[in-house]
Amino acid sequence: MDLENCEYWFIAGSQDLYGEETLKQVASHAAIMTDDFNNEPSFPGRIILKPTAKSPSIIRGLFEEANASSSCAGIITWMHTFSPSKMWIQALAVNRKPVLHLHTQFNRDIPWASIDMDFMNLNQSAHGDREHGYIHTRMKLPRKVIAGYWQDKELRRRMGVWMRAAAAKQDGMNKTVLRLGDNMREVAVTEGDKVEAQIKMGWQVNTWGIGELAQRYAQVTAAKAEEFAEEYENTYELAAELKQNGSARCAMLEQAKIEIALKEMLEAENAGAFTTTFQDLHGLPQLPGLAAQRLMEQGYGFGAEGDWKQSMLTRCAKVMAAGLEGGVSFMEDYTYHLEKGREAALGAHMLEICPSIAEKKPRIEVHPLSIGGKNDPARMVFNAKAGPAVLATLVDLGSRFRMIVNEIETIKIENEMPLLPVARALWKPYPNLTDSAEAWILCGGTHHSVYTSALDAEYFRDWAQMCGIEFVLIDGSTRPNRLQDELRWSDAYYSHR
Ligand code: MN
Repeated sequence: MDLENCEYWFIAGSQDLYGEETLKQVASHAAIMTDDFNNEPSFPGRIILKPTAKSPSIIRGLFEEANASSSCAGIITWMHTFSPSKMWIQALAVNRKPVLHLHTQFNRDIPWASIDMDFMNLNQSAHGDREHGYIHTRMKLPRKVIAGYWQDKELRRRMGVWMRAAAAKQDGMNKTVLRLGDNMREVAVTEGDKVEAQIKMGWQVNTWGIGELAQRYAQVTAAKAEEFAEEYENTYELAAELKQNGSARCAMLEQAKIEIALKEMLEAENAGAFTTTFQDLHGLPQLPGLAAQRLMEQGYGFGAEGDWKQSMLTRCAKVMAAGLEGGVSFMEDYTYHLEKGREAALGAHMLEICPSIAEKKPRIEVHPLSIGGKNDPARMVFNAKAGPAVLATLVDLGSRFRMIVNEIETIKIENEMPLLPVARALWKPYPNLTDSAEAWILCGGTHHSVYTSALDAEYFRDWAQMCGIEFVLIDGSTRPNRLQDELRWSDAYYSHR
């Protein structure tokens, strides 16, 4: 995944009133800032300086150009001088790109000794950005507002978060979730409105028959599967029975074939994510375990049991986290440790957890799966690395999508679990296990989620805002009763939109 090709258009606002001299300075300051932004290592993609926004026709032209550009992931606006906002209405009304309103000024300090009215007229974002903010608020437009000095580290960190969220939004506009089979029978929370998902998030959520995968799988040669097995051998640890001539090696080769066939299909359909379901594996020998883990590691989103919402969100987090430390995986809440003072949640899945979150080299093993009635599947087994992380999930409330994010602290797994051969993570959620669980359940959050140690809640908040969906945060200050009131207010807000 390469965010280098993403463009972020930088538009400095002004107006004709100030005369040529002032406008020249506006443009030259914006050019200096653009160059400096482009040397910022934490920014993905490139900042592209656009002509100064000084008339309604220029502004509308810029936004129409942005809409038509497949490389423009978002627009950064900054009012160096006053830029009357009625000039922006037509442009903002047609805009389809995420907006970052950067509230900064070129000079850091007030030049006490030399300041005069010319300086005041040129450097008045404190004035102009308020006018700019008003029109967004009046038009009920989503945007991120970041205030501060443009060279400040924290300001740039937050800009970078927004840029990555915008890249994920852009990625979703061009990608498909490839559903293999439908939702797990009778399960409610993994269902959802696929049409609304495309309207809000851009994703095309479409289905393909498992037979197509089975057919591709059957055509993968033994030699090709062996090639992959060698790569596995070089990348991961292998259980003794999986090594050359081992008794269970063929189970791993089956997963290699599934990986190859699935990847072919994903590429053919320009898919960024996929789902499987253990109830629909006709023609496949095993549930895709190792194969799903490997594809997640390569940047694909994954959702089990037909959970296309979490699959899409996993991909979204993979894009936001591209090049960052830490990992992203599909995850499931499994079981709790409820000892007073040492409460923790154990997350895992039947098989499909991404090795990008592993603490050390994963080990491939083959064991029976007590569900689905297929052959014993190969899977990677590991513990997740300790440290701060978040869980994010998407639910469909019928009238809208809600994203729920919980800040957690992943802890080291001190106990051996020899009879549980799956990848797993152990965490303490904020504010504590019981309040977190109560809050999550009051929100209607799923048992499935996206787990990431590479991102914090701000990324998801920015992305949710770009998509126009609800965002609920469960963190250190969450109180379930208070949150329940907020959810009621939120219901009122969304029912009046
Ligand atoms: Mn599941």
